[in-house]
Amino acid sequence: MTPRREVPLNSLAPGVQAIREDIDAAVDRVLRRGWFLLGPELAAFEQTFAAYHGAEFRCVGVGSGTDALRIGLQALGVGPGDEVLAPANAGVPPVAAVVAAGARPVFCDVEPASHCLDPADIERRASSRARAVLVVHLYGQVADMGGVLEASRTRGLSVLEDCAQAHGARHRGQLAGTWGDAAAFSFYPTKNLGALGDGGAVLTAQPEVADRAALLRNYGWRQQYLSELHSTNSRLDELQAAVLAAKLGHLDEWNARRRELAALYREHLSDVPGLVLPSDPGASEGQSAGGQPGATEHVHHLFVVRVPGRRDELRAFLAERGIGTGVHYPAPAHLQAPYAEFGGGPGSLPHTEQLAREVLSLPMYPELRDEDVAYAAEQVRAFFRRGA
Ligand SMILES: *Cc1c(COP(=O)(O)O)cnc(C)c1O
Repeated sequence: MTPRREVPLNSLAPGVQAIREDIDAAVDRVLRRGWFLLGPELAAFEQTFAAYHGAEFRCVGVGSGTDALRIGLQALGVGPGDEVLAPANAGVPPVAAVVAAGARPVFCDVEPASHCLDPADIERRASSRARAVLVVHLYGQVADMGGVLEASRTRGLSVLEDCAQAHGARHRGQLAGTWGDAAAFSFYPTKNLGALGDGGAVLTAQPEVADRAALLRNYGWRQQYLSELHSTNSRLDELQAAVLAAKLGHLDEWNARRRELAALYREHLSDVPGLVLPSDPGASEGQSAGGQPGATEHVHHLFVVRVPGRRDELRAFLAERGIGTGVHYPAPAHLQAPYAEFGGGPGSLPHTEQLAREVLSLPMYPELRDEDVAYAAEQVRAFFRRGA
């Protein structure tokens, strides 16, 4: 018997401690300067984060990922009377953002292998009122953007990418956030690039969209106290921007470690009947190690397996053995009371509903140790060995 370990689903303190000096220096700089909003730290982070995605991009820091989605939609011209095609399996935020922008969500089903929007369902459900597609790169994997863009362009729809779980992810070498008309990022503390509180950003290569987003985050002011459009405020503060700038240099190395841990899970769990492992988009291109141009790189914000019929039973079994798990997400948005009016009820999104019953997130964060993965995987195997 392997001795019992405690393996949490996620743990934030080790990552902060590992670069504690840089974080302390960033915080100290801001405190000494005494400039806390819309200052030089924000400008510097926006520039570096934009440049990470390419010279043509501009970044506008905002207060959260949900605000980035809402402001991104509004900056693209989405508003009352418009429909936005969106998935129902990515939690409430994307749908809440559509409603906050004054538009109406139209739920589309997802492809079971990627958990991301099914382009064929976009084509099926786009009405004449459709104005935009909100595509979520769920769990760290870039959606089928070729298909999404084709379905969108032929109907004149704008495309907003939700990159809250996909900082640094690539499809055939191209980064998440660089495919659509604009992208929204979250820097919620648990994300692959996380602040020490709330934060978010809009990324776009279209100067007029960036300009509108910058107005929308601050009362519509171009000049202080003089509004050009209706808006409240939503700003990424100087402390968070300084911390994010210190962390950004580590993003690729942390994502590479997440891929290493995912590969380790696969090694340990590849032959377990009753368990469905996440698809490995990099492997299907015949590329193992990440980093080379052209590679498809999942960034494993979460490591999500499927457990048909026995998800909750496995979850309880692992909890008894010290292993933290999560369900992302237990109830699809179209089956939650406030959003039911926008959906077709139970049975309207078959893949989404089936996935919600089967998904289970195993421990995943860059500081997780190989032996933690081995222990968690061993307990998963023990569960299935035990039988039903
Ligand atoms: C976290 C998350 C958001 C919301 O980000 P916040 O910063 O918490 O507002 C939006 N979409 C997805 C897919 C997320 O995971």
